[in-house]
Amino acid sequence: MKKKEELYVTKSSLPPLEEFLPYLEKLWETRLLTNMGEFHEQFKKELSDFLSVENTELFVNGHVALELLIESLGKKGEIITTPFSFASTTHAIVRNGCTPVFCDIEEDFYTIDVKKLRSLISKDTVAILPVHVYGHICDVEELDRISKEYGIPVLYDAAHAFGERYHGRGVGSFGYASMFSFHATKVFHSIEGGAVCIGEKNPELLHKLYALKNFGIMGQESVELVGCNGKMNEFSASMGLCNLRHIGEYIKEREKRYRHYESLLKDVPGLIFPKEQEGVEKNYAYLPVRILGEGRRNQIFSLLEKEGIHPRKYFYPLISDYDCYKGKFPGDGTPIAKKISEEILTLPIYPDLDFSDIERISVILQKECS
Ligand SMILES: *Cc1c(COP(=O)(O)O)cnc(C)c1O
Repeated sequence: MKKKEELYVTKSSLPPLEEFLPYLEKLWETRLLTNMGEFHEQFKKELSDFLSVENTELFVNGHVALELLIESLGKKGEIITTPFSFASTTHAIVRNGCTPVFCDIEEDFYTIDVKKLRSLISKDTVAILPVHVYGHICDVEELDRISKEYGIPVLYDAAHAFGERYHGRGVGSFGYASMFSFHATKVFHSIEGGAVCIGEKNPELLHKLYALKNFGIMGQESVELVGCNGKMNEFSASMGLCNLRHIGEYIKEREKRYRHYESLLKDVPGLIFPKEQEGVEKNYAYLPVRILGEGRRNQIFSLLEKEGIHPRKYFYPLISDYDCYKGKFPGDGTPIAKKISEEILTLPIYPDLDFSDIERISVILQKECS
Protein backbone atom coordinates (compact mmCIF):
# COMPACT_ATOMS: atom_id res chain seq x y z
CA MET A 1 0.00 0.00 0.00
CA LYS A 2 1.13 3.52 -0.77
CA LYS A 3 2.23 5.34 2.33
CA LYS A 4 -0.08 8.18 3.31
CA GLU A 5 1.30 11.69 3.49
CA GLU A 6 2.62 12.67 6.91
CA LEU A 7 0.38 15.28 8.52
CA TYR A 8 1.75 18.05 10.70
CA VAL A 9 -0.15 20.66 12.73
CA THR A 10 0.73 23.37 10.26
CA LYS A 11 2.10 24.06 6.81
CA SER A 12 3.50 27.49 5.93
CA SER A 13 1.30 29.56 3.64
CA LEU A 14 2.97 30.99 0.53
CA PRO A 15 1.63 33.60 -1.88
CA PRO A 16 1.75 32.80 -5.63
CA LEU A 17 5.41 33.06 -6.67
CA GLU A 18 4.55 35.66 -9.36
CA GLU A 19 3.50 38.03 -6.60
CA PHE A 20 6.80 37.73 -4.75
CA LEU A 21 9.09 38.07 -7.78
CA PRO A 22 8.53 41.82 -8.43
CA TYR A 23 9.74 42.52 -4.89
CA LEU A 24 12.90 40.51 -5.57
CA GLU A 25 13.47 42.33 -8.85
CA LYS A 26 13.21 45.65 -7.05
CA LEU A 27 15.70 44.52 -4.40
CA TRP A 28 18.15 43.36 -7.09
CA GLU A 29 17.82 46.82 -8.62
CA THR A 30 18.15 48.97 -5.50
CA ARG A 31 20.43 46.67 -3.47
CA LEU A 32 18.86 48.11 -0.33
CA LEU A 33 18.29 44.82 1.46
CA THR A 34 17.70 45.90 5.04
CA ASN A 35 17.87 48.83 7.51
CA MET A 36 14.30 50.09 7.33
CA GLY A 37 13.96 50.17 3.55
CA GLU A 38 10.97 50.85 1.35
CA PHE A 39 9.17 47.54 1.95
CA HIS A 40 9.78 47.70 5.70
CA GLU A 41 8.09 51.09 5.84
CA GLN A 42 5.22 50.02 3.61
CA PHE A 43 4.66 46.81 5.61
CA LYS A 44 4.61 48.76 8.87
CA LYS A 45 1.94 51.09 7.56
CA GLU A 46 -0.23 48.38 6.01
CA LEU A 47 -0.07 46.37 9.22
CA SER A 48 -1.22 49.28 11.37
CA ASP A 49 -4.19 49.73 9.02
CA PHE A 50 -5.04 46.04 8.88
CA LEU A 51 -4.75 45.52 12.62
CA SER A 52 -6.51 48.82 13.47
CA VAL A 53 -3.75 50.00 15.78
CA GLU A 54 -2.21 53.44 16.18
CA ASN A 55 1.38 52.32 15.50
CA THR A 56 3.47 49.28 14.69
CA GLU A 57 7.20 48.68 15.06
CA LEU A 58 8.70 45.75 13.17
CA PHE A 59 11.31 43.29 14.42
CA VAL A 60 13.39 40.38 13.22
CA ASN A 61 11.08 37.98 15.08
CA GLY A 62 8.38 37.91 17.72
CA HIS A 63 10.66 36.91 20.56
CA VAL A 64 13.04 39.83 20.07
CA ALA A 65 10.00 42.13 19.79
CA LEU A 66 8.81 40.90 23.20
CA GLU A 67 12.25 41.08 24.82
CA LEU A 68 12.78 44.63 23.63
CA LEU A 69 9.25 45.66 24.63
CA ILE A 70 9.95 44.49 28.18
CA GLU A 71 13.38 46.16 28.10
CA SER A 72 11.77 49.43 27.04
CA LEU A 73 9.99 49.60 30.42
CA GLY A 74 13.41 50.11 32.00
CA LYS A 75 12.43 48.28 35.17
CA LYS A 76 13.61 45.20 36.99
CA GLY A 77 11.04 43.39 39.09
CA GLU A 78 8.26 40.83 38.92
CA ILE A 79 6.18 40.20 35.82
CA ILE A 80 2.98 38.20 36.21
CA THR A 81 2.39 35.72 33.37
CA THR A 82 1.06 32.21 32.78
CA PRO A 83 3.07 29.00 32.39
CA PHE A 84 0.68 27.79 29.67
CA SER A 85 2.43 29.31 26.67
CA PHE A 86 5.38 28.93 24.33
CA ALA A 87 8.86 29.14 25.93
CA SER A 88 9.37 32.63 24.49
CA THR A 89 6.92 34.35 26.86
CA THR A 90 8.77 33.53 30.08
CA HIS A 91 12.24 33.54 28.47
CA ALA A 92 11.67 37.18 27.45
CA ILE A 93 10.99 38.04 31.10
CA VAL A 94 13.96 36.14 32.53
CA ARG A 95 16.40 37.31 29.85
CA ASN A 96 15.52 40.86 30.92
CA GLY A 97 16.60 40.12 34.49
CA CYS A 98 12.99 40.16 35.70
CA THR A 99 11.22 37.48 37.75
CA PRO A 100 8.24 35.63 36.28
CA VAL A 101 5.35 35.10 38.68
CA PHE A 102 3.13 32.32 37.37
CA CYS A 103 -0.61 32.88 37.53
CA ASP A 104 -3.08 30.10 36.80
CA ILE A 105 -5.31 30.01 33.70
CA GLU A 106 -9.07 29.69 33.50
CA GLU A 107 -10.68 26.50 32.38
CA ASP A 108 -12.73 27.54 29.33
CA PHE A 109 -10.22 29.46 27.23
CA TYR A 110 -6.88 28.83 28.98
CA THR A 111 -6.06 32.54 29.32
CA ILE A 112 -4.81 34.17 32.54
CA ASP A 113 -7.33 33.78 35.40
CA VAL A 114 -8.04 37.37 36.38
CA LYS A 115 -9.71 36.19 39.61
CA LYS A 116 -6.39 34.73 40.78
CA LEU A 117 -4.28 37.60 39.47
CA ARG A 118 -4.79 40.30 42.12
CA SER A 119 -3.36 38.24 44.96
CA LEU A 120 -0.09 37.87 43.00
CA ILE A 121 0.44 41.63 42.62
CA SER A 122 3.16 42.96 44.93
CA LYS A 123 5.15 46.17 45.35
CA ASP A 124 7.72 44.62 42.99
CA THR A 125 5.28 43.96 40.13
CA VAL A 126 6.39 45.95 37.08
CA ALA A 127 4.12 44.45 34.41
CA ILE A 128 1.49 41.84 33.56
CA LEU A 129 2.18 39.66 30.51
CA PRO A 130 -0.91 37.61 29.55
CA VAL A 131 -1.15 35.46 26.42
CA HIS A 132 -4.08 35.36 23.96
CA VAL A 133 -3.45 31.64 23.79
CA TYR A 134 -4.73 29.84 20.62
CA GLY A 135 -6.28 33.17 19.68
CA HIS A 136 -8.59 33.10 22.70
CA ILE A 137 -8.81 36.68 23.90
CA CYS A 138 -7.88 37.38 27.53
CA ASP A 139 -10.34 39.22 29.78
CA VAL A 140 -9.13 42.56 28.40
CA GLU A 141 -11.73 44.61 30.28
CA GLU A 142 -10.78 43.27 33.70
CA LEU A 143 -7.07 43.46 32.86
CA ASP A 144 -7.60 47.09 31.92
CA ARG A 145 -9.28 47.76 35.28
CA ILE A 146 -6.45 46.04 37.18
CA SER A 147 -3.87 47.96 35.16
CA LYS A 148 -5.47 51.31 36.02
CA GLU A 149 -6.10 50.41 39.65
CA TYR A 150 -2.49 49.42 40.35
CA GLY A 151 -0.73 51.54 37.72
CA ILE A 152 0.86 48.46 36.16
CA PRO A 153 1.16 48.13 32.34
CA VAL A 154 -0.32 45.10 30.57
CA LEU A 155 1.82 43.78 27.70
CA TYR A 156 0.05 41.15 25.62
CA ASP A 157 1.71 38.18 23.98
CA ALA A 158 -0.60 38.24 20.94
CA ALA A 159 1.51 35.81 18.88
CA HIS A 160 -1.57 33.60 18.37
CA ALA A 161 -4.09 36.35 17.74
CA PHE A 162 -3.04 37.97 14.46
CA GLY A 163 -5.91 39.70 12.68
CA GLU A 164 -8.47 39.03 15.40
CA ARG A 165 -11.04 41.52 16.61
CA TYR A 166 -12.87 41.75 19.88
CA HIS A 167 -16.26 43.49 19.59
CA GLY A 168 -14.94 45.03 16.38
CA ARG A 169 -11.76 46.38 17.93
CA GLY A 170 -8.33 45.21 16.72
CA VAL A 171 -6.89 42.91 19.37
CA GLY A 172 -3.48 44.61 19.17
CA SER A 173 -4.96 47.86 20.41
CA PHE A 174 -5.59 46.64 23.97
CA GLY A 175 -3.27 47.26 26.91
CA TYR A 176 0.03 49.14 26.90
CA ALA A 177 1.28 47.21 23.84
CA SER A 178 0.99 43.82 22.10
CA MET A 179 3.54 41.55 20.47
CA PHE A 180 2.76 39.61 17.29
CA SER A 181 4.89 36.87 15.75
CA PHE A 182 5.21 36.43 11.99
CA HIS A 183 7.06 33.13 12.17
CA ALA A 184 6.62 30.79 9.19
CA THR A 185 4.40 28.47 11.26
CA LYS A 186 1.95 31.17 12.25
CA VAL A 187 -1.39 32.05 10.65
CA PHE A 188 0.31 35.06 9.04
CA HIS A 189 4.04 35.21 8.43
CA SER A 190 7.01 37.07 6.99
CA ILE A 191 9.23 33.93 7.09
CA GLU A 192 10.63 35.21 10.40
CA GLY A 193 9.36 38.44 11.85
CA GLY A 194 7.46 40.14 14.61
CA ALA A 195 5.91 43.39 15.69
CA VAL A 196 4.91 45.47 18.66
CA CYS A 197 1.59 47.23 18.21
CA ILE A 198 0.36 50.16 20.23
CA GLY A 199 -3.30 51.13 20.55
CA GLU A 200 -2.84 54.73 21.63
CA LYS A 201 -0.32 57.41 20.68
CA ASN A 202 2.94 56.81 22.55
CA PRO A 203 5.84 58.47 20.68
CA GLU A 204 8.20 57.88 23.57
CA LEU A 205 7.67 54.10 23.49
CA LEU A 206 7.98 54.04 19.68
CA HIS A 207 11.24 55.95 19.83
CA LYS A 208 12.65 53.54 22.41
CA LEU A 209 11.59 50.43 20.48
CA TYR A 210 13.21 51.77 17.33
CA ALA A 211 16.42 52.64 19.17
CA LEU A 212 16.55 49.25 20.91
CA LYS A 213 16.26 47.33 17.64
CA ASN A 214 18.85 49.53 15.87
CA PHE A 215 21.85 49.43 18.26
CA GLY A 216 20.55 52.65 19.85
CA ILE A 217 21.59 54.47 16.68
CA MET A 218 19.29 57.43 16.05
CA GLY A 219 21.52 59.45 13.71
CA GLN A 220 24.89 59.16 11.98
CA GLU A 221 26.64 60.55 15.02
CA SER A 222 24.12 59.77 17.71
CA VAL A 223 23.95 56.53 19.69
CA GLU A 224 21.39 56.99 22.45
CA LEU A 225 21.26 53.68 24.26
CA VAL A 226 22.71 50.16 24.41
CA GLY A 227 20.51 48.53 21.80
CA CYS A 228 20.85 45.35 19.80
CA ASN A 229 20.10 44.32 16.21
CA GLY A 230 16.43 43.45 15.99
CA LYS A 231 15.66 44.79 12.51
CA MET A 232 13.41 43.12 9.96
CA ASN A 233 15.00 42.80 6.51
CA GLU A 234 13.42 43.67 3.16
CA PHE A 235 12.90 40.05 2.07
CA SER A 236 10.80 39.38 5.15
CA ALA A 237 8.89 42.63 4.72
CA SER A 238 8.18 41.62 1.09
CA MET A 239 6.83 38.24 2.16
CA GLY A 240 4.73 39.98 4.79
CA LEU A 241 3.28 42.38 2.21
CA CYS A 242 2.40 39.48 -0.12
CA ASN A 243 0.84 37.35 2.62
CA LEU A 244 -1.14 40.30 3.93
CA ARG A 245 -3.04 40.39 0.62
CA HIS A 246 -4.13 36.79 1.18
CA ILE A 247 -4.76 36.66 4.91
CA GLY A 248 -8.52 36.94 4.43
CA GLU A 249 -8.57 33.81 2.24
CA TYR A 250 -6.20 31.95 4.54
CA ILE A 251 -8.49 32.56 7.51
CA LYS A 252 -11.61 31.65 5.51
CA GLU A 253 -10.08 28.34 4.40
CA ARG A 254 -9.00 27.61 7.96
CA GLU A 255 -12.50 28.31 9.26
CA LYS A 256 -14.02 25.80 6.80
CA ARG A 257 -11.67 23.13 8.11
CA TYR A 258 -12.32 24.12 11.70
CA ARG A 259 -16.08 23.78 11.13
CA HIS A 260 -15.60 20.36 9.55
CA TYR A 261 -13.68 19.16 12.61
CA GLU A 262 -16.37 20.72 14.78
CA SER A 263 -19.17 18.81 13.07
CA LEU A 264 -17.28 15.56 13.59
CA LEU A 265 -15.92 16.11 17.09
CA LYS A 266 -18.17 18.42 19.08
CA ASP A 267 -20.33 15.66 20.55
CA VAL A 268 -17.65 13.08 21.19
CA PRO A 269 -17.74 12.14 24.88
CA GLY A 270 -14.30 12.28 26.47
CA LEU A 271 -13.17 15.04 24.14
CA ILE A 272 -13.61 18.78 24.68
CA PHE A 273 -13.85 20.84 21.51
CA PRO A 274 -12.94 24.56 21.92
CA LYS A 275 -15.79 26.79 23.07
CA GLU A 276 -16.86 29.89 21.14
CA GLN A 277 -15.84 33.19 22.69
CA GLU A 278 -18.48 35.86 22.57
CA GLY A 279 -17.59 38.92 20.46
CA VAL A 280 -14.39 37.43 19.00
CA GLU A 281 -13.61 37.35 15.28
CA LYS A 282 -11.27 34.37 15.25
CA ASN A 283 -8.28 33.55 13.03
CA TYR A 284 -8.58 29.74 13.41
CA ALA A 285 -4.83 29.45 13.86
CA TYR A 286 -5.03 26.42 16.16
CA LEU A 287 -7.35 23.57 16.94
CA PRO A 288 -6.73 22.60 20.56
CA VAL A 289 -8.90 19.75 21.85
CA ARG A 290 -8.77 18.20 25.30
CA ILE A 291 -8.72 14.45 25.81
CA LEU A 292 -10.19 13.43 29.15
CA GLY A 293 -9.12 10.48 31.26
CA GLU A 294 -5.83 9.77 33.00
CA GLY A 295 -3.07 9.18 30.47
CA ARG A 296 -5.50 9.11 27.52
CA ARG A 297 -4.00 12.15 25.80
CA ASN A 298 -0.59 10.49 25.65
CA GLN A 299 -2.06 7.20 24.39
CA ILE A 300 -3.99 8.94 21.64
CA PHE A 301 -0.97 11.03 20.73
CA SER A 302 1.08 7.85 20.19
CA LEU A 303 -1.71 6.22 18.25
CA LEU A 304 -2.00 9.15 15.84
CA GLU A 305 1.78 9.25 15.45
CA LYS A 306 1.71 5.64 14.29
CA GLU A 307 -0.80 6.68 11.61
CA GLY A 308 1.56 9.38 10.33
CA ILE A 309 -0.48 12.13 11.99
CA HIS A 310 1.60 14.46 14.13
CA PRO A 311 -0.49 16.49 16.54
CA ARG A 312 1.30 18.53 19.24
CA LYS A 313 1.10 18.45 23.02
CA TYR A 314 1.07 22.21 22.81
CA PHE A 315 1.58 23.33 25.68
CA TYR A 316 3.14 20.48 27.60
CA PRO A 317 5.17 20.66 29.75
CA LEU A 318 4.22 23.89 31.48
CA ILE A 319 6.97 26.51 31.28
CA SER A 320 7.28 26.41 35.08
CA ASP A 321 8.19 22.70 34.77
CA TYR A 322 11.03 23.22 32.27
CA ASP A 323 14.42 22.00 33.49
CA CYS A 324 15.68 25.58 33.47
CA TYR A 325 12.82 26.91 35.62
CA LYS A 326 11.56 24.11 37.84
CA GLY A 327 11.09 25.26 41.43
CA LYS A 328 12.84 28.56 40.82
CA PHE A 329 10.02 31.07 40.65
CA PRO A 330 7.01 31.99 42.78
CA GLY A 331 3.41 31.39 41.77
CA ASP A 332 0.22 29.81 42.96
CA GLY A 333 0.96 26.28 41.77
CA THR A 334 -1.33 26.74 38.73
CA PRO A 335 -3.43 23.55 39.16
CA ILE A 336 -5.73 24.30 36.22
CA ALA A 337 -2.80 24.95 33.88
CA LYS A 338 -1.28 21.66 35.04
CA LYS A 339 -4.46 19.74 34.33
CA ILE A 340 -5.04 21.33 30.90
CA SER A 341 -1.42 20.71 29.87
CA GLU A 342 -2.00 16.99 30.49
CA GLU A 343 -5.18 16.91 28.40
CA ILE A 344 -4.40 19.24 25.51
CA LEU A 345 -3.71 18.11 21.95
CA THR A 346 -3.51 20.51 19.01
CA LEU A 347 -4.64 19.00 15.72
CA PRO A 348 -3.49 19.77 12.16
CA ILE A 349 -5.15 22.84 10.67
CA TYR A 350 -4.00 24.95 7.71
CA PRO A 351 -5.63 26.48 4.62
CA ASP A 352 -5.08 23.56 2.21
CA LEU A 353 -5.52 20.66 4.63
CA ASP A 354 -7.62 17.98 2.88
CA PHE A 355 -11.10 17.41 4.26
CA SER A 356 -10.48 13.67 3.91
CA ASP A 357 -7.56 14.00 6.31
CA ILE A 358 -9.79 15.76 8.82
CA GLU A 359 -12.16 12.81 8.54
CA ARG A 360 -9.31 10.32 8.96
CA ILE A 361 -8.17 12.06 12.17
CA SER A 362 -11.71 12.49 13.49
CA VAL A 363 -12.66 8.85 13.01
CA ILE A 364 -9.72 7.81 15.19
CA LEU A 365 -10.67 10.33 17.86
CA GLN A 366 -14.36 9.32 17.77
CA LYS A 367 -13.41 5.69 18.25
CA GLU A 368 -10.72 6.20 20.91
CA CYS A 369 -12.27 8.94 23.04
CA SER A 370 -15.78 7.58 23.45
C1 LIG B 1 5.62 32.01 18.18
C2 LIG B 1 5.45 32.55 19.55
C3 LIG B 1 6.36 33.46 20.13
C4 LIG B 1 7.67 33.82 19.51
O1 LIG B 1 7.61 34.31 18.24
P1 LIG B 1 8.84 34.07 17.19
O2 LIG B 1 8.44 34.95 16.03
O3 LIG B 1 8.88 32.64 16.85
O4 LIG B 1 10.09 34.55 17.83
C5 LIG B 1 6.05 33.97 21.38
N1 LIG B 1 4.95 33.61 22.05
C6 LIG B 1 4.07 32.73 21.55
C7 LIG B 1 2.85 32.38 22.34
C8 LIG B 1 4.30 32.15 20.30
O5 LIG B 1 3.45 31.24 19.82
